[in-house]
Parts: sequence; structure tokens; C-alpha cells
Amino acid sequence: MWKETEDGSIVDPSGKIIYFSTERFVNDICLGDCCFICGAKPGEKVFNNEHILPRWLLRRYDLFANTINLPNGEKVRYDRYTVPCCSDCNSFMGSHIETPVSEVVQGGAEAINDFIANGGLLTIFTWMALIFLKTHLKD
Ligand SMILES: [Zn+2]
Repeated sequence: MWKETEDGSIVDPSGKIIYFSTERFVNDICLGDCCFICGAKPGEKVFNNEHILPRWLLRRYDLFANTINLPNGEKVRYDRYTVPCCSDCNSFMGSHIETPVSEVVQGGAEAINDFIANGGLLTIFTWMALIFLKTHLKD
């Protein structure tokens, strides 16, 4: 049975957060240093922070030493631009999203079109939505 916490978040019987209240999301994820996917606190799990732009993309377009200009005026090197993420969530996203997308992108535009035409649209959308979320999470 799912339960609602005092802050309005919803957790499943194992304690996994199913829904973050706005208050919890802002405090723990946006302003805090909890995993941006599952909400785990540092110390509860092993963390290996998530790059905003994946390393395979930085490598492919030689972006490691380049900077991104954030909406708040701050400049950050792409290779140092990360968000807190536990290794479990990072591994899950890697195997379910990053690896399939990186393999498709290596194949070029025709491979991307084929991937989308054969049911991969949600994977591409999720990958792009994650980049958008990670880019703006700490703004
Ligand atoms: Zn996590």
C-alpha cells in the first residue's frame, strides 16, 4: 500500500518515493544534494554523479573543455557539469537510455530515423527531456 508522507510525497511499501511533493522536490533535489531520480540522500547509497551531457556526447563532439553559459550567467565546463545521482539510478539510465541512444547516434541521421520509426521515439524523448531537466534543475 502506498502512503502519503507529511510533506505530501507518496512512498511505496519499500519506502521508494513514487511522487515527490513540490516542497520535497525543491528542498531535496533542486536546492539539496539528493539523487535527482530517486531522492536518495548522500550517505544512504553510493553516488557517482550524472553528467548533464553524457560523456559519449562530449567525446564525440570534443566538448570536454568547452563551457556552457547558464541562464543565471554562470559558465561551467561541460566535463564538470553534473547533478547528484546515485550509482543505481545512473546505471539504470545508462543501460535503458544512454547506451541505446549513443549507439543510434553513432549510426547517423538515417539510424536515428529508423530507431524512431521502429518504436524508439519515447527513448529519444526521454533522453532529451532528461538533458533539459538536468540542465535546469539547479537554476
Ligand atoms: Zn537514485
